[in-house]
Amino acid sequence: MNEFELIRRYFERPAPSAMLGVGDDAALLQVKEGKVLAVSTDMLVCGTHFFADADPYLLGHKTLAVNLSDMAAMGAQPCWATLSIAMPRVDEAWLEKFSAGFFALANLHGVELVGGDTTRGPLSFCVTIMGEVDASLALKRSGARVCDEIWVSGNLGDAALALAHLEGKILLAQDEFDACAHALHRPEPRVALGQSLAGIATGAIDISDGLLADLGHMLDASNVGAEIDFESIPVSQTMRKHLGEEIARRCILAGGDDYELCFTAPASRHDDVQAIGMQLTCIGRIVQGAGCIVRDGEELLVLESGGYDHFE
Ligand code: ADP
Ligand code: MG
Repeated sequence: MNEFELIRRYFERPAPSAMLGVGDDAALLQVKEGKVLAVSTDMLVCGTHFFADADPYLLGHKTLAVNLSDMAAMGAQPCWATLSIAMPRVDEAWLEKFSAGFFALANLHGVELVGGDTTRGPLSFCVTIMGEVDASLALKRSGARVCDEIWVSGNLGDAALALAHLEGKILLAQDEFDACAHALHRPEPRVALGQSLAGIATGAIDISDGLLADLGHMLDASNVGAEIDFESIPVSQTMRKHLGEEIARRCILAGGDDYELCFTAPASRHDDVQAIGMQLTCIGRIVQGAGCIVRDGEELLVLESGGYDHFE
């Protein structure tokens, strides 16, 4: 099968909202009146972001999911994507599953694949996602203000806990691992939440590198500090059972791959945030200064701006 047959079979799908999709030298896209284009790119490299024997369906899902998560964090409506693939050889059964996982999630969010590139090389994927957002409502990292409340969606740390198990750093029971592995392999990007936060949140970021690192980016961009209460950070039943182990704490604060949203909103909008109707937890407040203080009962963990090294 040549490159063009491969693209046609596995990656060419109707893209009715694009003026021109896959098949020409470039796609042609028109954003709705009054909106601007939000554009973001994420790469997944074999050995760095996934294992060589990863399930191709789930890999297709995750390749798009991590990009949708960036749209969610901007409060944007994802519309189009390009997908570039390097692979050592053509494996049709693998491509079939990969594209099925990719398009299942794309269809769920109304995202159309409008282009890409396909080449021989070490297995890796790169998606560029494009979405629409009202320029004045985009959720930037720089919007956090002193006294804002800090919120997170869902539970934190499960994906990192599953990875820690795979790396032999913690031992989970099979049912515990299964529960956490879902977060690792099949993250559900918070796209609807991102859009619900428009006009309520002052700033947002998606948690891909761990809460403290990503919150840290917001704090730096907003020139503020934060105080968070460790015990208020939402965690799963499984995580709760392992809280006595140091690695569990590290997964919550500095694990990766959560793909939950961390956002700030004025305390006066507390009820509006809760009215969104999903699990959203207030974990602390924005304060003057820089860096982040984590209170854990009597213990006080002070994290300087940019310096989260002791979690690595
Ligand atoms: P060019 O030589 O101009 O780079 P290509 O031969 O690489 O064009 O690609 C042909 C068409 O197929 C283009 O429209 C491109 O966007 C699309 N395409 C290539 N690879 C992929 C892919 N993995 N997924 C979706 N579209 C792709
Ligand atoms: Mg090309």
